[in-house]
Amino acid sequence: MGNAIEIEGLVKSYGDKTALRDIGFAVREGSCFGLLGPNGAGKSTTMKILSGLLEPDSGRVRVLGLDLKREHARIREQIGYVPQGIALYEKLSAADNLVFFGEMSGVRGKELKSRIAEVLEQVGLADRAKDQVESFSGGMKRRINIAAALLHRPKLIIMDEPTVGIDPQSRNHIFEMIRGMKRDGVTVLYSTHYMEEVEALCDDLAIIDSGRVIAHGGLNEILDHFGTSAVYLELAAGQQPPELPGLGEIRPKDRGWTVETAKPLEVLSAWAEACRRQQLTVKQLEIVRPSLETVFLSLTGTTLRDD
Ligand code: ADP
Repeated sequence: MGNAIEIEGLVKSYGDKTALRDIGFAVREGSCFGLLGPNGAGKSTTMKILSGLLEPDSGRVRVLGLDLKREHARIREQIGYVPQGIALYEKLSAADNLVFFGEMSGVRGKELKSRIAEVLEQVGLADRAKDQVESFSGGMKRRINIAAALLHRPKLIIMDEPTVGIDPQSRNHIFEMIRGMKRDGVTVLYSTHYMEEVEALCDDLAIIDSGRVIAHGGLNEILDHFGTSAVYLELAAGQQPPELPGLGEIRPKDRGWTVETAKPLEVLSAWAEACRRQQLTVKQLEIVRPSLETVFLSLTGTTLRDD
């Protein structure tokens, strides 16, 4: 299988403000790819360029095998873009909004009618088709916005932070939709600043910060390459953890203690042996695999969660 997106050396400024300094990554066809970064990292700018809404200053971009500069109209026919802001007619029903968006993307007549029924089913709002959008929650509106981008059966769907500020039920629906799209062979590019979402949904990811890609690849690959494992120990109430001379710093965590280490098995064995000798009651002793959170922290020196 080829790549649905290939980006190299993408640069974009707004006046004298440089938003993208050097963005490069590839998205495999049929995969779900996460673009992860804090606010202002350059996620929306990258997505708008891919969707043909903004022109880059320089760089090479191919989408679905086509050159973005020369074949941008053909690309637009085959992609669905879900912007961050909700763009719907409040006074119209959900179905009438979809008629409008469907016609804009060239779907008409019977085909449009049946697609509207299908996408409303997909986003879990079939029973609200005739209701005015103004009566919907923020999460429901966002689901209609996603439905609008699916009407023309795009091969690639680009979603800009679709889960920001919405209720858990809508968030779960969006997750299920993304899984469904993947099953149908649709490629999904998805931006977020929630690491747990990338861990739950994405095959590959790029971490971007200040307009640059700082890590790119499969989730496990990135965790193995940049992450640090830890060992977690929990003892009976009132007991203190044995020292681990030369093996790392012990820090309190949750109801126990943790040690970050490149040699988790050594730390685990040393702790197990010391606890046995001191006759401590071990409630939990385990190796904890690295998370994207620790990777992000070690790469940027800041935490991603900023809201
Ligand atoms: P993200 O989606 O990761 O939050 P953006 O792509 O929206 O990041 O923004 C990247 C940088 O470009 C930020 O510093 C932002 O302030 C700036 N920026 C975005 N849009 C504009 C604009 N229309 N005019 C000027 N600066 C902008």
